Amino acid sequence: MEHYNVEQKIQEFMAKIEAKNPNEPEFIQAVKEVAVTVIPFIATRKEYTGMKLLERMAEPERVIIFRVPWIDDNGEIQVNRGFRIQMNSAIGPYKGGIRFHPTVNLSVLKFLAFEQVFKNSLTTLPMGGGKGGSDFDPQGKSDMEVMRFCQAFMMELCKHIGPETDVPAGDIGVGAREIGYLFGMYKKIRNEFTGVLTGKGLAYGGSLIRPEATGYGVVYFAEQMLKTIDDSIEGKTVAVSGFGNVAWGVIKKTNDLGGKVVTISGPDGYVYDKDGISGEKIEYLLEMRASGNNRAEDYLAKYPEAQFFAGRRPWEVKCDIAFPSATQNELDLEDAKTLVANGCICVTEAANMPSTLDAINYFLDNKVLFSPGKASNAGGVATSGLEMTQNSIRLNWSSEEVDARLKEIMIGIHKACRDYGKEEDGYVNYVKGANIAGFVKVAEAMLAQGLV
Ligand code: GLU
Repeated sequence: MEHYNVEQKIQEFMAKIEAKNPNEPEFIQAVKEVAVTVIPFIATRKEYTGMKLLERMAEPERVIIFRVPWIDDNGEIQVNRGFRIQMNSAIGPYKGGIRFHPTVNLSVLKFLAFEQVFKNSLTTLPMGGGKGGSDFDPQGKSDMEVMRFCQAFMMELCKHIGPETDVPAGDIGVGAREIGYLFGMYKKIRNEFTGVLTGKGLAYGGSLIRPEATGYGVVYFAEQMLKTIDDSIEGKTVAVSGFGNVAWGVIKKTNDLGGKVVTISGPDGYVYDKDGISGEKIEYLLEMRASGNNRAEDYLAKYPEAQFFAGRRPWEVKCDIAFPSATQNELDLEDAKTLVANGCICVTEAANMPSTLDAINYFLDNKVLFSPGKASNAGGVATSGLEMTQNSIRLNWSSEEVDARLKEIMIGIHKACRDYGKEEDGYVNYVKGANIAGFVKVAEAMLAQGLV
């Protein structure tokens, strides 16, 4: 009976979410993943029942949508759409990246902002959740075009952010160059030098290890998962997707810990390098990215002994560990089946929501060590939090200090997931663990602050 009631609650809750947010499939997907694990938990806690906590968390505190007009190198006027989703500020100022990519729309940014609330809560640092971006495509644009776009974007965004209000950072399409232009414009308009953005350059308030942090954190998390079965990264064959900032950090740290990475990918297909992507090959990924091509095939220009598979995903390669590090929904049920059939024991998400719901359920049913991005990729935003602290105390910490704190945070997130996600047979459902652990802190703060 009890079970039936909870199932019904989930269905009713999701029906409302779907009705309220039509044409937002990514957002609905992200909320559903949380609802199926958190609603049964709420049912066991008297203080949470009837408080509409998840309903409130699924409604952004504020959505800002704005016009971004700018002039391209040919003197032609271009118009893009800018967004900032201020999802939840119960435990701290809104915090989350900015994504510049043609696929950016309200659904994508709402899913990312929703995930960010739970992710930031898991870090234990005082950061609420937000996300922003634009459908602007930096690929193929000149530096000056990117600068003019960033300045036009910040002209409006600056009215809504601030070091105590909302602290954006990078995401897909927004790296050191874009953060620099955005920061410069904010500083000029507000006449304030503050930690309003993270991912800044070292010369103007950035933190050591921030570029590596997301990837390093992912691998630290995987190390903890493997430890629960008395195993490690050492000697493992590893499949990675993407070749951007996150993939780069994942590949670096996997190599440090003795693993062998055999794939990277791009929108064009994937590269298989049987000798392993190590040493100078890792730094070559930065050059590939700087070229602005976004083509994985370019790897073969320097390392022709590798193989390129056009239009395919790396999940068909036999591996022990998979790190999806590219983008949302890049790993579906068929991919999950292939990975499991090939003996993959650990899937640690490095991107945000790279696995579809069906794929996640398949991993869980097959007792694969599976971790959702909101837990395992939280090292990026956690290190942004450390950058905010350094800006506030006006000091810079050494790499060793930042890295040690990052590692400690990832170990803490892993423990929190285990505490809430351990099942009777000993298997850890990290999806459930991450969702509940992330939820509890935000819920407590929301309850304490009343209906606001
Ligand atoms: N975009 C990153 C994420 O998805 C980093 C956000 C931040 O540092 O604020 O978590």
